[in-house]
Amino acid sequence: MKIADSAELWSQAVERLRAEIGEENAELWLKPAQAVSLEGGVLTLRVPNKFFSDGIKERYQKRLIAVFRELSGADVGLDFRVERDISRVLPPSDPVPEASSQSDFALSELNPRYTFETFVIGESNRLARATAESIAKSPGTQYNPYVIYGGVGLGKTHLMHAIGNAMRRQHPKARVLYTTSEQFVNEFIAAVQNNALDAFRARYRSLDCLLIDDIQFLIAKDRSEQEFFHTFNALFDSRKQIVVSSDRSPKEMSPLEQRLISRLEWGFVADIKPPDLETRIAILRKKAALEGFAVPDDVVLFVASSVKTNVRLLEGSLIRLKAFQSMTGAPLTVDDARDILKDTLASDEGNPVRIETIQRVVALKYSVEVKDIKGHQRTASIALPRQVAMYLSCVMTDQSSTDIGRAFGGKDHSTVLHARKKIERKVEEDPFFLELINRLQADIKAAER
Ligand code: ADP
Ligand code: MG
Repeated sequence: MKIADSAELWSQAVERLRAEIGEENAELWLKPAQAVSLEGGVLTLRVPNKFFSDGIKERYQKRLIAVFRELSGADVGLDFRVERDISRVLPPSDPVPEASSQSDFALSELNPRYTFETFVIGESNRLARATAESIAKSPGTQYNPYVIYGGVGLGKTHLMHAIGNAMRRQHPKARVLYTTSEQFVNEFIAAVQNNALDAFRARYRSLDCLLIDDIQFLIAKDRSEQEFFHTFNALFDSRKQIVVSSDRSPKEMSPLEQRLISRLEWGFVADIKPPDLETRIAILRKKAALEGFAVPDDVVLFVASSVKTNVRLLEGSLIRLKAFQSMTGAPLTVDDARDILKDTLASDEGNPVRIETIQRVVALKYSVEVKDIKGHQRTASIALPRQVAMYLSCVMTDQSSTDIGRAFGGKDHSTVLHARKKIERKVEEDPFFLELINRLQADIKAAER
């Protein structure tokens, strides 16, 4: 048997695999792909988005290639073209979806205090916020899907609720759902157990905007992840908005997480960084005003300069100060504040990572001497650990590249930057190397404890 036609080859291959991988998987992963061409020994498939190309590659590529060989009598490679099938694209949805009834679950799920108005803008969050605002105005258009990254307590959840709140105000009938990926997984499991998958799917797929917080909980939960992709595809295809957040930057993610996120990244990505001093001051003033709490300027400055990494801690500090003041009734001083916030301040500092710890842990891992890492020898067996240690010093400490260069036996800052770039590239290209870097970071943090 020799098949030379792309459509024929693909449909027969799908039929063969169907028996092996099951009806559900075949429908989910293989059915949406269409054969475009069979040229130069390569079968090109058109898939609606990157989920499919990644999913097919990961799960079935090997098997497919073997089946192609059986069917066509030759080696046939597999390639993908990501392109939405025009016939499946619906016209842009009406901004106020008439068909949906008044949303039944949206209100209860959104915190009314998390709005754009209460969100203080600073350099650290400007892009993330501006994007969120334009999504609320015209969901499902330009920035879809939208991924927000950022450390804990920096305002991701606040922004997601703000999108939901603003959408509901502008389009009262829009079906907006905010949920966490953990909740999504739990609901999915319950639906499977109760034979209620259809209802679960219908509910999620009827949304105009799905906001999924803390996507990292989906990782390594294979069926839930698949179900999420299903939902995602259904919504994306009908031009509904999807917003996702993650607590970790791609650099800090494990390969599994990176894989999950990479499938969303063709949309729009923004990250939120820790706020600078001015923004922290502005946040404190705003929160104090909202609480009707008059805080002296020097106390605001003290708190803003002491609590640096986490807006949630900043807020918590304010609440404690307020409680103290309402108890004593006396005007608040900086000394009071220092005393009241002792614990908070200690927890915000965390454990600062020192360059010498990084050098020690990296040297140990690569079985070289710390003095070699700081030295000038250029053999590969030393240059790589040195560059790794420089890179980690850049990402794990807040030292400048000049300071880092100095700590590495007086090297130039451009050497540090070069090392950083080089390792960054390697991390992107090689998941095993990324895993190594992740492990090193964990070891370094543990060594500082
Ligand atoms: P995350 O989801 O990133 O962990 P949250 O959105 O829960 O963080 O934010 C933690 C707290 O800090 C919330 O109460 C939120 O209102 C507040 N917050 C964070 N960033 C800002 C900001 N830029 N302006 C005002 N409040 C903020
Ligand atoms: Mg959050």
